[in-house]
Amino acid sequence: LKLLIDAHLDLAWNALSFNRDLTQPLDTLNRIERGMTDHPCRECATVSLPELKRGGVAVCLGTVLARSNPDIQAVERTNLDHRSPVIAYAAGQGQLAYYKMLARQGHVEVIGTAEALNQHWSRCSKEGETDVPLGLILSMEGTDPILTPDDAHRWWDDGLRVAGLCHYGRSTHAVGTGDNGPLTEAGIELLHEFDRLGMILDVTHLSDQSFDQALETFSGPVLASHSNCRALVPDERQFSDGQLKRLIERGAVVGTAFDAWMLHPGWERGKTPPGVVGMKAAADHIDRVCQLAGNTDHAAIGSDLDGGFGTEQTPHDLSTIADLQKLGHILAERGYSDADVDAILHGNWLRFFRQYLPS
Ligand SMILES: [Zn+2]
Repeated sequence: LKLLIDAHLDLAWNALSFNRDLTQPLDTLNRIERGMTDHPCRECATVSLPELKRGGVAVCLGTVLARSNPDIQAVERTNLDHRSPVIAYAAGQGQLAYYKMLARQGHVEVIGTAEALNQHWSRCSKEGETDVPLGLILSMEGTDPILTPDDAHRWWDDGLRVAGLCHYGRSTHAVGTGDNGPLTEAGIELLHEFDRLGMILDVTHLSDQSFDQALETFSGPVLASHSNCRALVPDERQFSDGQLKRLIERGAVVGTAFDAWMLHPGWERGKTPPGVVGMKAAADHIDRVCQLAGNTDHAAIGSDLDGGFGTEQTPHDLSTIADLQKLGHILAERGYSDADVDAILHGNWLRFFRQYLPS
């Protein structure tokens, strides 16, 4: 079993929105959802804490994910939108409370420093250590729950270490997926505050214009937690070769997502069957990042496997997050050395966070 680092899971949002007890085995989660029709991913879950352990996932970035949108129409529990930033903040704090209780019960360990990461990693690497909790670096997908630059300090004190300014559509701070436009004044202010704090910027979901402006405005460390290549699967949600080169120049690591629509050109949600795409497609995206960089130092995993979809929208050979182990074999078959495979499965994220988490 190889140790993995997955830079994008929405564990708390998934648990609270889908009412899933993630401490349960995967088949229990899916059995409970038999017959539920409120969301296409019911009965199709691929992520639970026992499954992460079985799959060798030693560390993940766990998000807080709550959007503010005053025009919200939908009433489903699984909708991401909240009527105001204050409500989004409170929803985000609720997700944080979920992580804190999982930590108190010994299921996860929230990692906020390089030292804590090193200690956690050496426990995970030790033979025979089986009851090590999942290491969790707290991140935020869309910064609507940060109402003022001052609030950024409070979230930092709560353990937040990575933040992306937007998700789909317009956030308080930037323009995200499905649209294009610049950062807002508040967004520029927030990036300056992030610089002062040492917060890591996640550029995933930034629209092209906001991406350019964020890289110019922000001088700290950047990563792309779950982003694939536009050259392979055209969509502005993905990064162009030029954008990826800029990220590589900045020392970023890019996590490849295993959402089928980001791996297969022309995927139509709810229509295209998973049979059309395999995990080899994810290796194609990883390989492209490596070719652009001229080395294997910048490609990694950011699976997004619990981000509002399940096996109805994953590669056909991935039915649980534990199947991420297959990626190592796929890369080895393509001629990647053992050291390169390890870098992609965990080493690159480990190096990045050892360098950029506070000591
Ligand atoms: Zn996302």
